[in-house]
Amino acid sequence: MKKTLVTLSIVMAAISCTNKNPFFSEWDTPYGIPDFGQIEEKHYIPAIEEGIRQQEAEIAAIIANTDAPTFENVVEAYENSGAVLGRVTAVLFNISESDATESLQAIVEEALPLISVHSDNIMMNPEFFAKVDVLFKDIENLGLNQEQKMVLKKLHNGFVKNGIALNAEDQDRMREINLELSSLSNTFGNYLLAENNAFEQEFGVSISEYPVAMASEQDRARREKMFKAYSSRGNNGNENDTKDLMVKMMALRIEKAKILGYDTPADMILADKMAGNPETVDQFLSSIMTPAVKKAKEEIKDMQVEMDKDIKAGLVAAGSKIEPWDWAYYAEKVRKVKYALDEEQTKPYFQMENVRQGVFDLTTRLWGLQYEKLENIPVYHPDVEGFKVTDADGSLIGVILTDYFPRSTKRGGAWMTNFVEQELGVRPVIVNVGNFAKPTADKPSLLTLDQVETLFHEYGHALHGLLSQCTYPSVGGTSVPRDFVELPSQIMENWAFQKEVLASYARHYETGEVIPDELVAKIEATGTFNQGFMTTELAAASILDMKWHELDSVEGLDPMEFEAKACAEMGLIDEIIPRYRSTYFAHIFSGGYSAGYYSYLWAEVLDKDAFELFLQKGIFDKETATSFRKNVLEMGGSDEPMDLYRRFRGADPDSGALLRGRGL
Ligand SMILES: [Zn+2]
Repeated sequence: MKKTLVTLSIVMAAISCTNKNPFFSEWDTPYGIPDFGQIEEKHYIPAIEEGIRQQEAEIAAIIANTDAPTFENVVEAYENSGAVLGRVTAVLFNISESDATESLQAIVEEALPLISVHSDNIMMNPEFFAKVDVLFKDIENLGLNQEQKMVLKKLHNGFVKNGIALNAEDQDRMREINLELSSLSNTFGNYLLAENNAFEQEFGVSISEYPVAMASEQDRARREKMFKAYSSRGNNGNENDTKDLMVKMMALRIEKAKILGYDTPADMILADKMAGNPETVDQFLSSIMTPAVKKAKEEIKDMQVEMDKDIKAGLVAAGSKIEPWDWAYYAEKVRKVKYALDEEQTKPYFQMENVRQGVFDLTTRLWGLQYEKLENIPVYHPDVEGFKVTDADGSLIGVILTDYFPRSTKRGGAWMTNFVEQELGVRPVIVNVGNFAKPTADKPSLLTLDQVETLFHEYGHALHGLLSQCTYPSVGGTSVPRDFVELPSQIMENWAFQKEVLASYARHYETGEVIPDELVAKIEATGTFNQGFMTTELAAASILDMKWHELDSVEGLDPMEFEAKACAEMGLIDEIIPRYRSTYFAHIFSGGYSAGYYSYLWAEVLDKDAFELFLQKGIFDKETATSFRKNVLEMGGSDEPMDLYRRFRGADPDSGALLRGRGL
């Protein structure tokens, strides 16, 4: 082992003499932020190739070690391997989502197969597995702490899921499948980005602005046109049609599941999640779908009343009924009539900078976190801003970057990722990305209520990453089962519109006036407004995802017929479509949420149940906040999610909390 290490360091020294690839050394920047100013596109592929070579050598050293396998010389050594590769992929795969120029897309396409093959080379290496397996079989007798056990289990499971137990022929096929899947999923993302940009070009409305535009568009014919264009993205029979991609991916996923001994991809994917199996998820989703649709039908009645007024006024053709393209528009009308709340009234109080400060201040109140704006730090785009986060005692927590404005090279939606993962001795660098209104010459970025909630949500993910106190990177921060990962994010949404929280940040962008009580009361009253629709479209997308992944064959399958049948079976009504239709369901075809979209609702049971404790004890209660930090936010995936949750809550989650929270 020692000998190999010496060889390695010579190799690295030689490289640093002859090359100036910034990925080859640790970032010599404040707080370890990637040195974006030094990174050029030509650096990525050589860094990936070198990173792969280095990690191969590190794994060869683990295998060559003649000492008996121990947690330290196998698992820990692996956790510490691949530093260069980790640095370059963290940057490349973040930027490729938030600033995907065409040249960068080409680099990603070149990089993906290299990484897919490398990852298979590790996870299908029988000698490496033999060492891990020896440890795994003796896991209870090694004197490991809980985090170490979780790391070992996760590593072992990685091998099993990659088909380590298969014969050589099946292993070869698995490699081919993985390679093809990674490329197809990337292509799906690129096609969708092109479709999104085409939509924006046609209507002058970006995909992220679509819901807002639909709510205010008075021209019914234009709404219909926009809805149809929006809901047929990826389904236009042009060069960016995603239907064939989807079917190809499903065929490969099914084949992979079967090779590994599962009936369907859903069985395979759910085996190591909190839910455990597809049946549990299906039952859970249908228990939500039924009350949600019932509520949605009541909402339609309210909206029809408003539409009938328009019919009387001659604005809409006689006999018109609420159609899917009417929902956002008439929901907004009902909201104005029932609650006298107009988003144009609230927006001036939600300037992006104030909302961001609001969530920062909330974490100061709950956990004593302190923030300092960082000037002159390296950023990958001028819209990016950075903040240093410190704990109440002044110790460094990490860095949060925010990148909130849309651009054509950024995919839609909002998300959090790490540029640097937390591990023992390393504080993380995290980014929150969004697509909020870009400031203009005379107006700052003003957020809708939905966007305020999104900003709080993503900051919850950021906190999960920032506050992490794990030893090993593979279980740090948000590296938890997917159906647990939305708890820290969704719980933050609960604070966003609490009166005392609003008073701290919702100030008029021109006058500085705090949001008036009367508006706060209206926002509160609308808290469960339109939840029939929102819950239905979310549950419908979750069920659609499950139906795709519960397939055991795609032979002769027509994807759109399949989708229509799935929607009919789940009891979806004509006025609502799934939040994502299959052809633009990036979460499941290019985002790693396959058989996992249910996670948002699943985690909502946890977040609503958790927040009920705050409501009982006080929303700023220090003890409850500290317990949530210690038992959930700091723990990452270092223990079983349900155990972490119970330690915080002192009980199992109450499944009724979700329906109560949504007023269903
Ligand atoms: Zn989330």
